[in-house]
Amino acid sequence: MAIGKEQAYYKAARRAVTALNSDASLKQVLHTIVRNIARAMEAGVSLVLLDSSRKKLAHSSSWGLPQFYLRKGVLDADKSLSEVLTGQPAVIGDVGRDSRVQYPEMAAKAGIVSMLGIPIMSSGLAAGSIRVYTREPREFTNQDISFVTTMANLAAVALGSSLLREEKEEAEPGRSQTPVEGAALRKARSVTFAHPSEEEFARILDFYDVEWIYEPRSFPLRWEADRITEMFTPDFYLPGLDLYIELTTLKQSSVTKKNRKLRHLRQLYPEVKIMLLHKNEYDRLLARYGCGPLAHTRARGIRRVLYSPAEIEERVRALAGRISKDYAGRRPILVGVQRGFICFMADLIRYITIPLDVDFITMSYYSASDHSMFKFTKDMELNIAGRHVIVVEGIVDTGMTLNSILNHLRPRRAASLAVCTLLDKRVRRIADVPLEYVGFEVEDEFVVGYGLDYEEEYRNLPFVGVLELEKPESEDRAGSHKK
Ligand code: 5GP
Ligand code: MG
Repeated sequence: MAIGKEQAYYKAARRAVTALNSDASLKQVLHTIVRNIARAMEAGVSLVLLDSSRKKLAHSSSWGLPQFYLRKGVLDADKSLSEVLTGQPAVIGDVGRDSRVQYPEMAAKAGIVSMLGIPIMSSGLAAGSIRVYTREPREFTNQDISFVTTMANLAAVALGSSLLREEKEEAEPGRSQTPVEGAALRKARSVTFAHPSEEEFARILDFYDVEWIYEPRSFPLRWEADRITEMFTPDFYLPGLDLYIELTTLKQSSVTKKNRKLRHLRQLYPEVKIMLLHKNEYDRLLARYGCGPLAHTRARGIRRVLYSPAEIEERVRALAGRISKDYAGRRPILVGVQRGFICFMADLIRYITIPLDVDFITMSYYSASDHSMFKFTKDMELNIAGRHVIVVEGIVDTGMTLNSILNHLRPRRAASLAVCTLLDKRVRRIADVPLEYVGFEVEDEFVVGYGLDYEEEYRNLPFVGVLELEKPESEDRAGSHKK
């Protein structure tokens, strides 16, 4: 079920190289490196850089480590892991019993047991280091060490090229720079999102293993003579999906302005795919994961019936008819995901007229409090190699759940992999997964019934209805977005 380590390492390195080879800022590249090590090794990771005195280590970027541990202050370079100065990897099996660890009590509080430190070498000098922390005792293998070393080398390349860029931009004659000076580097020492909701969004993307780059590129929109007078910088770029995403505030004035800019951008750059996520849509998305201002809104009941039992039956019969024809002689495996499929799949299989198998798959939900990665909480039991698989969903919204599931099923070499969903909320799609069988296309409203729940309620309604949610006390409580 887990993809092989080698494959995970290769993917991480490839993503780091993609970021390095993009317009992304230095801090963004370093952050991408850190996140991808964390993901591939299933560990906490931090990247620290030596300051210009070469005596202190400043925390630059990290992933999967508690805040208090990161705020433990600057470390003394010669007291903290000496690998930084010697250029050697440091492997620490038990953090509690190793004198090289400067804050063992903090490490214990953070639950850190084992640790790997790899220097970032730039022009033969140590510029900083990357540390990997695990909560269980881990023996780091040569493969692990060589992977982190490769990533550290990429970090060094990023540092070097940003220094070159900077030297060109603000050449100061007579002043020689050590590998760790300059404005780009100072900026690189802290990863800052303009708004906490953006960070939350980044964590959700991470959870679903969707690669992102924050504020990757500014699009010039207006010029006067040679001078650019207006630009637009989308919040996120998702390289794997080739999609830009802009998060917006609720303030009507700024939304209108943004809409105008976006129209303009689409005219000037028709090849650019960009999606605008309004604050209320975005808050609803967060609420699904139990975070954001709408997290605990109560439902007032059903506002209206969207599809009656008779309408549903007619559609489900039609889908079953198509599947029976398309898969004749191929005995497909229907795989229900999460729980929303329950009524749909129960009806669907009864109208399908060819032999079939059923199986189920369940994945973990994003949780704002722990930075875990997506995993299956219940995997399939049938072997799908060489078989025709139809993944059955109740509703596809952003597509990220399905995207993760398909990505994990793909290496298992099914003969074919298709998706059948009762409802398709296409307007909100982020991961553009192909949907072969769709019951109904719905708008961006929260729907329940016929298997779909709101906080585990309403699944047993025989129809699909639109839920009426209570308004939060203050619509703009979370403040407005930047810009
Ligand atoms: P995605 O990953 O495509 O954004 O989300 C798919 C999951 O979100 C579904 O399996 C479902 O649990 C939930 N979901 C998204 N929109 C709705 C909705 O309108 N109603 C209900 N009940 N669940 C939804
Ligand atoms: Mg924004």
